[in-house]
Amino acid sequence: MSELITLNENGTLNVSNEPRIPFIEGDGTGVDIWPAAKLVFDAAAKKHGKKIDWIEVLAGEKAFNETGSWLPEETVEAFKTHLIGIKGPLTTPVGGGIRSLNVALRQILDLYVCLRPIKYFSGVPSPVVHPEKVDMVIFRENTEDVYAGMEVQEGTPEVKKLIEFLKDNFGFNIRSDSGIGIKPVSITGSKRLIRAAIKYAVENSRKSVTIVHKGNIQKFTEGAFRQWGYDLVKEEFADVAVGWDDCDGVPGDKVLVKDAIADNMLQQILLRPQEMDVIATTNLNGDYLSDALAAQVGGIGIAPGANINYVSGHGIFEATHGTAPKYAGQDKVNPGSVILSGTLMFEHLGWKEVASDIVKAMGSTISDGIVTYDFARLREDATEVKCSEFASAIVDRL
Ligand code: NAP
Repeated sequence: MSELITLNENGTLNVSNEPRIPFIEGDGTGVDIWPAAKLVFDAAAKKHGKKIDWIEVLAGEKAFNETGSWLPEETVEAFKTHLIGIKGPLTTPVGGGIRSLNVALRQILDLYVCLRPIKYFSGVPSPVVHPEKVDMVIFRENTEDVYAGMEVQEGTPEVKKLIEFLKDNFGFNIRSDSGIGIKPVSITGSKRLIRAAIKYAVENSRKSVTIVHKGNIQKFTEGAFRQWGYDLVKEEFADVAVGWDDCDGVPGDKVLVKDAIADNMLQQILLRPQEMDVIATTNLNGDYLSDALAAQVGGIGIAPGANINYVSGHGIFEATHGTAPKYAGQDKVNPGSVILSGTLMFEHLGWKEVASDIVKAMGSTISDGIVTYDFARLREDATEVKCSEFASAIVDRL
């Protein structure tokens, strides 16, 4: 009998050998990549005496066509109740009421960490000489920053009022033909994000956490984010982590917490990627860094992602690419992103062996030269297979 995943009092998840997990197939190529990923998930779970009771929930076009709503209340309820879920890509409705379904889910469930591990798979075509030196895990703050969408449009009475208010109360001279975006960065939002990153580093024997910020210019938001991170190390992690200034960069067996200015960081990930490990950063920086690093390992089509609230126990694991509508239904695209997102989910559930088996099997499938069109077009030594055939090849190697 399948069971609900629940949250223990100590904040860990209680997961049976047959948990119920809701999934959103996704729009566009979701019809191709979800069945392929499911094939891999079920086979890997079975190998370890486990089974997933998948529950389909609707969102996006499929939901709109069947219910008239892009994000039905039942779907939100299902994610609330089951704590953990996984999703394919969703169309962002043009001219609809919802800015983005992904953003809506993150906000409703307060999924404050956007987790993006970036690691190279041998055989993946990459634009850099040593992609194998990249092995980082990004913790991007998911709820604040200019990304929260608090904006006032140029030319409106609202922006005029705001400009006048800022002039009268703060002496800020803002051009009258400006639009304005607000950048909130709080102690609460910063510390819970950095706490998750340090905990992850400690639990996974990572060497360092780099706080990435633009604090030299934006002192009270980005600079404060950095400072609150260093404060947190002293307040909560003194036994297992140490800030750079408190150890002169020599942390002993503790996790080293250091920081880097965002523009410099974009150089460092190209020049000395081996010196970076776990990264904790604000929302917009994290957005840029995630895609830059994914491109560096050639993995934009296979980059996995997760959105997690470590306190409430909620997590949604997702393909990071979009719906690629021109390929929908052709059994063609790479299912790697949703498959690797599943491995993040299994790790999060404590099913470490299931996750590592899938990662290993996918790695050997790619290095054996069995790849979908996106990698095949960049490799001369590879055989192009369909989306479903790629999944079957992974299952054969489990
Ligand atoms: P996209 O769907 O990611 O597609 C852009 C290109 O990326 C594709 O044309 C294809 O490149 C490549 N690609 C995407 N998925 C791939 C896969 N599984 N395997 C291999 N290559 C893949 O981006 P878009 O065209 O800008 O967006 C389309 C829709 O998706 C929009 O409605 C957008 O809002 C939505 N979207 C959703 C999410 C999400 O749900 N997380 C994220 C981003 C966008 P080639 O043409 O070079 O083959």
